[in-house]
Amino acid sequence: MSKIKRNTLVNKLIPPLFLYLILLAVISIGSLYYIQKKHAFNIAENTFLKTTKLLDKKFKSDIKTYKTFIKLISKDKQAIELFQSNNREGLYNYYKKTFEEFNKQYKISHFYFHKTSKINFLRMHYPQKHSDLIERFTLNASIKNRGLGKGIEFGIFHNLTLRVVYPWFVNNKIIGYIELGKEIDYLTPELAKLTHSEIVFTINKKNISKENYQKWLDNSKKNVKFKELKNYYIIDSSIHNYSKKLKVLLNNQENIHHASLDNFSAHYHINSKPFLDAHGKEIGKIYILCDMSDEFKFLLQLIFKITFIIILLFAFLAIYYLKIVRKEATIIEKTQTNMFSLAMTDSLTSLYNKRHFDSSLPLKIQKAQSNDNYISFIIADIDNFKKYNDNYGHKKGDDVLKRVAHQIKYSFKRSNDLCHRIGGEEFAIIVESDNKNFGYKMAEKMRKNVEKLKIEHLYNEQYNKVTISIGIFTINSKDIVDYDNLFINADKALYQAKKSGRNCTISA
Ligand code: GH3
Ligand code: MG
Ligand code: MG
Repeated sequence: MSKIKRNTLVNKLIPPLFLYLILLAVISIGSLYYIQKKHAFNIAENTFLKTTKLLDKKFKSDIKTYKTFIKLISKDKQAIELFQSNNREGLYNYYKKTFEEFNKQYKISHFYFHKTSKINFLRMHYPQKHSDLIERFTLNASIKNRGLGKGIEFGIFHNLTLRVVYPWFVNNKIIGYIELGKEIDYLTPELAKLTHSEIVFTINKKNISKENYQKWLDNSKKNVKFKELKNYYIIDSSIHNYSKKLKVLLNNQENIHHASLDNFSAHYHINSKPFLDAHGKEIGKIYILCDMSDEFKFLLQLIFKITFIIILLFAFLAIYYLKIVRKEATIIEKTQTNMFSLAMTDSLTSLYNKRHFDSSLPLKIQKAQSNDNYISFIIADIDNFKKYNDNYGHKKGDDVLKRVAHQIKYSFKRSNDLCHRIGGEEFAIIVESDNKNFGYKMAEKMRKNVEKLKIEHLYNEQYNKVTISIGIFTINSKDIVDYDNLFINADKALYQAKKSGRNCTISA
């Protein structure tokens, strides 16, 4: 009979629980990671759209403001007179204060008066330089349209300038052109702050001529040769330090859609779009970098917390589960042991039964063989028991069986002496010993012990008390070939005992 063991139960039940919790952890952490990533993705996308929209809005509003200023200047009679009489110094002094105000309030850094011939008459921001021919898209557009010329232009001094040019109408006749502009680098930190992002404007090297670059170098403190320039040129940025990875990414000049990148302590989600000049030509890129470090820090903390909770949950569950399983398994184990011993025990006498006899005999013989011992096979049978039952009643007969069984057990005290009730009033005892005569001596002792009980049995002629007859067969365990032979020989001896007048022990 196979038994359910406590540890087998625990081993079978704990791994599924563990697997279930691992699965739970993987699913919850995976979902969290996915949700948070999607959330970060949305934030970056929104920031990108918001920033680029804001940038457009800002340009449009600046253009509108400049146009209003230009129109106001156009109507100033004194300005018209000074311009038409080519009084450069007069015009400069007349607008000096206004320009300072423009610069302070509206960050206007460029203020020009041009003649209709495209020759510059006056640069308010750089009065020393004048009378040069202006070849710029915005001025050309204003001339061509007889109206507004606007847009961002990349200058040879590596500046990006938003320019607004409008014809100077006097009595419906154009007398010149007025231009206002500002470098857009003022915008980057302001916009970055407003949108909680970082903004990088890059110019593609293709748009920088070697000649202009040299001119620019002469005016700047930089010492980088033209051929050393990478594809990109960061013209304006709210970031101060660039990691190698970020530099490589910016250098690629490709449109970026949700790239994730670490730049020192920041974790950026990066999107980009082409950066167009007044011609509508792509001159570089605008990169919007959304710092997601806080979101990722939050995610990591959340994952850590959930993992901790799951481990705690597992520990609690495992302890609880183990306790319950162990308790239940102990009950099952005990019940099984009880059932096992019940199945192997004779209910009347509490000696082992025939089933136990059949299963234990081979083991007992093998053990004796390994110990090189003798095996005595003893069969005891109550004498004239039928007559006892017939005369004293079956119930009293049962009592006799119990008392005789008790005496048998009492006679064979060693734990390895196995006493069985194998039939109605028949008992079998298997005794192992290194002494050939030990079994016989013990059998005789048993017979006498039963006799000593002095249980009245007037129909057991000659003795008048309950007695037993014994057949015994002793053999060196090594010589045993056939187990049945033990029984046959002992039974023959018992038959002889009965024939010899009962209440005796006969050895086969
Ligand atoms: P012998 O000395 O030759 O062994 O004669 P005997 O009467 O003991 O043998 P027999 O085999 O003729 O009868 C055995 C009797 O044992 C028959 C039955 O009444 C009795 N018996 C068998 N099992 C039980 C039992 O469980 N309880 C009781 N009270 N009697 C039993
Ligand atoms: Mg019998
Ligand atoms: Mg009998």
